[in-house]
Amino acid sequence: MSQIRRAIYAGSFDPLTYGHLNIIERGCRLVDELVVAVAHNHSKRNVFSPQERVDMIQATVEERGLRGVRASLFEGLLVDHARSIGAQVLLRGLRSVKDFEYEFQMALTNKELGGDLETVFLVTEGKYAHLASSLIREIAAMGGPVTGMVPPGIESRLVERLRNNRS
Ligand code: ADP
Repeated sequence: MSQIRRAIYAGSFDPLTYGHLNIIERGCRLVDELVVAVAHNHSKRNVFSPQERVDMIQATVEERGLRGVRASLFEGLLVDHARSIGAQVLLRGLRSVKDFEYEFQMALTNKELGGDLETVFLVTEGKYAHLASSLIREIAAMGGPVTGMVPPGIESRLVERLRNNRS
């Protein structure tokens, strides 16, 4: 019996953007199962809790009918989590040379820590190259439009959350 090909796409996803979604849609065609793993960090600068982010990603991938994709939460070292769920591939997205420098360092480190886990990079589609969760949070916090940057369900949650935070 052949082994299931499973990849893990980890990040903070606060919130999920169309850039992330593009990597998820293209990445899931390359494997049997893609796990989108939200890092459980406790930063006060987060807009959404890790569990809220997992729920929003799960709802978005279901809405889009993306088969073989599920969202989950992880804590600790990514390579340990990848091993524990039986993933062979760490999926990452690249926007720019700046991303590359960081991602290159992470890939080398994860190779050292993770043995036979392989990092696979997908280069963003040009129209998403400028999208970053941090910038989207800032725009939304100042009442600006983020339509076209995040899926509609996430946009409404973001607007609602930041409106409540400001009042
Ligand atoms: P951030 O650094 O904004 O917190 P994440 O940790 O959520 O981003 O990102 C997880 C992964 O998604 C990283 O590999 C990152 O390079 C990639 N990524 C983020 N935004 C985009 C985008 N617009 N296009 C392609 N890949 C992206």
